[in-house]
Amino acid sequence: MDKPILVIFVDAYPFEDSESLATKLSANTYKKVTPGVGYSINVKAEIFGKLKPDDVGYFCEWIYNKEKNFKWMTPLIVKLLTAIGSISNFMNRVIHKIVRMIINEPIYAIPFDVLPYLKNAGATAYEYAFEMPTFLSELNFVRVLYSDIGVNDEKVFRRAKDIVKRDKPKKLFVSTAELDGIMHYYGKGSKEYKKQIQLIDSNIIELVEAFKISHGGEADYFIFSDHGMAAVDEGVAFDIRKILGDPGKNTYFYFIDATFFRVWLNNKKLKTKLINAFNEVKQGHILDNTEREFYGLKNSEHGDIIFLLDEGKMFSPSFFGSIICKAMHGYDPALESQQGTLISNIITSDIDCVKASDIYDLVTQCSKAS
Ligand SMILES: [Zn+2]
Repeated sequence: MDKPILVIFVDAYPFEDSESLATKLSANTYKKVTPGVGYSINVKAEIFGKLKPDDVGYFCEWIYNKEKNFKWMTPLIVKLLTAIGSISNFMNRVIHKIVRMIINEPIYAIPFDVLPYLKNAGATAYEYAFEMPTFLSELNFVRVLYSDIGVNDEKVFRRAKDIVKRDKPKKLFVSTAELDGIMHYYGKGSKEYKKQIQLIDSNIIELVEAFKISHGGEADYFIFSDHGMAAVDEGVAFDIRKILGDPGKNTYFYFIDATFFRVWLNNKKLKTKLINAFNEVKQGHILDNTEREFYGLKNSEHGDIIFLLDEGKMFSPSFFGSIICKAMHGYDPALESQQGTLISNIITSDIDCVKASDIYDLVTQCSKAS
């Protein structure tokens, strides 16, 4: 159990751009990581705890909460806010901003008549507050988290290097997230992206070296990411209200993510109408039962209908606004563009690709090896 292991998580580091890091480290393993379904919050649950959406109990960051969540939102206030927001897009943005400031919750562009029936999924799998077991909690990793320090890779790596030198922890976990935002905003291959990759690579090389100096030849390291990204070329609008009318307890609720459209049908009679409308959208498809089983997404709590866009498409508007990012993830996990990376000094089997949940096994097995 005392084996020194350094684990570095780089959100969104694509497989295809991490070869130079693997070469510089003379790594024994450089492989694709096929993400799980959904966004980082779910892929992290698979990586750190081997938990698919059905196991962890959520899919995506905002989930349907049958019990009303925003207690202050009486039907009258909902009607008033919706009415002001419907004057214009500008007014809608303004009223959301004001409400966000008052209640101090990130409500993005979520419609006010849906908001009371949604809740946040909760802590991410690598945080101390996450309640299910992960390899980080089971193996007592010391954690350097961007969520504590800020989305600033330079600061995160500086803190990690200081801790390695000062405390010499046998198990250290470092998580960074700046690259993800840079790719969304500037795009893959942009100069900002290339600069960030250089910063990450040089810091990782220094950190691995420092960890080896602290612990000698028996030290192992794992560097991995949760997904890659695809360039976005088209926004897709799907106006469910035009098809099913207003959402509500007797009709339906919905959530529009960047690439997923989830619908909970409180009135099952609406199903055929909705399926027919989604089938008209040529840039994606409804996940069928086989796919949902494969992804561990069977529970209808994740949505009675889940529609997934094709690579390079993005819902606009979504519940996060109307802006179309330069690059996005959360598509079919098997796509080449979605592959994350795994780099390690340990020797793994001959397969080219590992699943996100295999990383849990690799780290726990490594800790047991003497
Ligand atoms: Zn992202």
